[in-house]
Amino acid sequence: MTTTSVTFPFSNRFATELPELAVAWQSEDAPDPRVLMLNDQLATELGLDPDALRAPDGVGLLTGNAVPPGATPVAQAYAGHQFGGYAPRLGDGRALLIGELTDRDGRLRDLHLKGAGRTPFSRGGDGRAAVGPMLREYVVSEAMHALGVPTTRALGVVATGRDVRRETILPGAVLARVASSHLRVGTFQYVASTGDVELLRRLADHAIERHHPAAATAEHPYRALFEAVVAAQADLVARWMLVGFVHGVMNTDNMTISGETIDYGPCAFMEAFDPQAVYSSIDVGGRYAYDNQPVIAEWNLARFAETLLPLLADEQDTAVALAVESLGLFRERYSTTYGAGLRSKLGLPATVEDTVAAGLGAELFDLLRGSHVDWTNGFRALGTAARGDYEPIRGLSVDLVALDEWLARWQALGPDPALMDRTNPVYIPRNHLVEEALDAATAGDLDAVQRLVDVIEQPFEERPGLERYAAPAPQDFGRYTTYCGT
Ligand code: AMP
Ligand code: MG
Repeated sequence: MTTTSVTFPFSNRFATELPELAVAWQSEDAPDPRVLMLNDQLATELGLDPDALRAPDGVGLLTGNAVPPGATPVAQAYAGHQFGGYAPRLGDGRALLIGELTDRDGRLRDLHLKGAGRTPFSRGGDGRAAVGPMLREYVVSEAMHALGVPTTRALGVVATGRDVRRETILPGAVLARVASSHLRVGTFQYVASTGDVELLRRLADHAIERHHPAAATAEHPYRALFEAVVAAQADLVARWMLVGFVHGVMNTDNMTISGETIDYGPCAFMEAFDPQAVYSSIDVGGRYAYDNQPVIAEWNLARFAETLLPLLADEQDTAVALAVESLGLFRERYSTTYGAGLRSKLGLPATVEDTVAAGLGAELFDLLRGSHVDWTNGFRALGTAARGDYEPIRGLSVDLVALDEWLARWQALGPDPALMDRTNPVYIPRNHLVEEALDAATAGDLDAVQRLVDVIEQPFEERPGLERYAAPAPQDFGRYTTYCGT
């Protein structure tokens, strides 16, 4: 291990403020590192020179093989409910937090490496990640960012030159992930289970300072922290629903305190509208199906509330009552954010009453489901209908009588096509295109991944020649299945 000569200005706030949750560790060496993807725009936002990141010291930073001054790489401890069952000790089994950077806007951002080798939390795992899944996280997280959904970002993917043994032998890679932090509900669960209330308070104070600073001056700071996380998660899941995103593994260790989407494993964008859509190979009960996501988020927040009880009040009963009351904000906030988003998707002006907008939305969903209309293309075609051309949406539908009747009532409300085009994307990372691009990349050709990223970076701007990126999967693509822990 070497120290880089280029100055990448890191801090080690997490490692020094919460040493009980941090195991100082170093990444496995990468024998033949090769930069596969680098996010120049994000690098610049972080105050890092993209050319320096491509140079040997930079590649060392992106693989963890060179530790920048000021950084203390650590594996973070956390617990979590996985599919409803509690696991007391998860932690970074194949990832390291390198440290924090202050970005151009003065915000603290984590640099975290996924696939950096075994750690004390690896259990039976090999600590590694394969090129395909790391590029998948790169593509999907950047798509989410471009769609305006809060998310961790991808700074780069570096092939390590090591093999990873899965069903077959695959090339290994490290993803450099940037997040406003890696504090999770599971981090609080881990601390709560130690029974150390002072540590819990320190963690909560750290979370307040980094993510919800207004809570510090509230009358009840820890209750305000809880409510801020409830609000952030209600907003987040509402946004997922509006873009048709299925996270796939909403375990409490995959739910952030910041309100950013994290952990792109078995996620997928829904194509034909189906409230029960589920893609993950292991989610046989459909716990994390599209329509369940709000209720699961609320369940996870109840687990978060349980960890905070010692900070909410001296009396357990009082603390529980406060937590229940605050958790009640979730449904209200979710409805407000979702309702406003749906209104924009339908292009409806503010003068249309909420109940009218919600009723139209519910009727539309029945039509979309009945005709297996592609979620993304259906809303985009409605934008064209708002301009007077009904053919695209009619072409996607089966029950034309019901559709025409709905369109007439909606059109009478004066939908705004420009608002719809700003709200309803043309391009999402289509599952079949993602798979096609990842297969090519695994075989050594990165062109398709780069092209896909270029397309999804401007999701709302329809461009000629990109028709195949807006088309649903061909029939023979079949039922799409995604995998965790790949
Ligand atoms: P995830 O499904 O990515 O949220 O991971 C759940 C837990 O499994 C975390 O504690 C991970 O660190 C751990 N994990 C996932 N993949 C591996 C791997 N290849 N080696 C070691 N630990 C892993
Ligand atoms: Mg995870």
